Amino acid sequence: FRRNPGESEFHQAVTEVFGALGPVVNRHPEYVESGILRRMCEPERQIIFRVPWVDDNGSVQISRGFRVEFNSALGPFKGGLRFHPSVYLGIIKFLGFEQVFKNALTGMPIGGGKGGSDFNPAGRSDAEIMRFCQSFMTELYRHIGEYTDVPAGDIGVGTREIGYLFGQYKRITNRFESGVLTGKGMSWGGSLVRPEATGYGAVMFADQMLRTKGRSMDGQTVIVSGSGNVALNAIAKSHQLGATAITASDSSGYVVDEDGIDLDLLREIKEVQRGRISEYAEQRGGRTRFVAEGSVWDVAGTVALPSATQNELDEKAAKTLVENGLLAVAEGANMPSTQKATELFIRSGTLFGPGKAANAGGVATSALEMQQNASRDTWSFEHTHDKLEQIMIDLHDRCLETADKYGTPGNYVAGANIAGFVKVADAMLAQGVI
Ligand code: NDP
Repeated sequence: FRRNPGESEFHQAVTEVFGALGPVVNRHPEYVESGILRRMCEPERQIIFRVPWVDDNGSVQISRGFRVEFNSALGPFKGGLRFHPSVYLGIIKFLGFEQVFKNALTGMPIGGGKGGSDFNPAGRSDAEIMRFCQSFMTELYRHIGEYTDVPAGDIGVGTREIGYLFGQYKRITNRFESGVLTGKGMSWGGSLVRPEATGYGAVMFADQMLRTKGRSMDGQTVIVSGSGNVALNAIAKSHQLGATAITASDSSGYVVDEDGIDLDLLREIKEVQRGRISEYAEQRGGRTRFVAEGSVWDVAGTVALPSATQNELDEKAAKTLVENGLLAVAEGANMPSTQKATELFIRSGTLFGPGKAANAGGVATSALEMQQNASRDTWSFEHTHDKLEQIMIDLHDRCLETADKYGTPGNYVAGANIAGFVKVADAMLAQGVI
């Protein structure tokens, strides 16, 4: 903690992972003796850089760029870029640390990293977004590559931003190196299902958890937070599996739609018009209401899919959800539940899929995109979707089996952390003191 002052989210992520490792380090003291735990907390490389850009008024703006290359024991660094005003080193380090174990859990050959900027895309014109992305890549390009570090999207970074970043990388390097970024557009090296993968995967994970109790997503009432990439696709997959998602939110409030969220309308408002969530209630009418104050977690449902941001679901919210009859939580976002909320869910017997397992479908499909790029191949939607589904089923089973093996049956947090840790730790041990 003294070594990383002020990085509260990073402390929280490390505490959660290491808090679950008791059973494994008791059985395998070599992980402690070899300094693996301490080495894992120290990123292999951290890059912080100035991102100067000119806004539409001709004024020079200065943002701060980050890329934290956390661990490459299993493959090239892999993880998204986040553009949000809350970004600072502690956020990127927490995300990078989580990413290491998440990527290990997918079973794909990818290490972990994360990056981004405190640039705020809200209200910026398309031209400003492009100039910012070009300036960001003008520094980042020297640190990334197909075999080195492969960024993707996250909050504030979607296909549009990946396009501007890729265009600038190509221009600087004079190489059409598809494998340097994932989340690309379909006509220039992207993979079908990648845009849907995180939200779809989280719902598939929830479905698998429910099946261990003789239930499924069919007939569930789903509470979703956020209205970005993950949330929209979580709503879509919920509806495909026979559930009804009745909420969505953004930083200005949430909507409740008793008839089930109209996904086409929500996509139009959020992805095309880039509007606010209140506009959904205005345009939808009927049994829909917009709530500016309070928490989306006050709404009763049987499955919760937190899909906005870290620490959005606290202990009080968890208690309310459980009292209202919640059966399962699958975290679409990274670390959306506070430590105390997580503990409450586990104590109450709620099925709880932590982000590093439940939202791993996104990065797993990024790895499928890398496979397609490497072989210059393009897979069909069905083929890629089936692969994603199998990955989520395997990942779910791996968490459960590991939890069982280490004496914490049904605890997906322990299972995910231990399974991810063991894979990375063994690779690090094999590769010597590096
Ligand atoms: P988007 O930028 O597409 O959407 C983010 C959504 O969350 C928006 O509705 C946004 O509202 C809301 N949000 C963000 N920050 C806050 C905040 N501080 N308070 C309230 N609402 C907020 O991002 P994604 O959907 O891609 O990412 C959502 C989460 O999923 C993140 O935790 C991300 O790390 C995680 N994730 C994403 C993956 C992906 O493939 N995209 C992969 C794995 C995890 P507003 O517009 O008002 O800010």
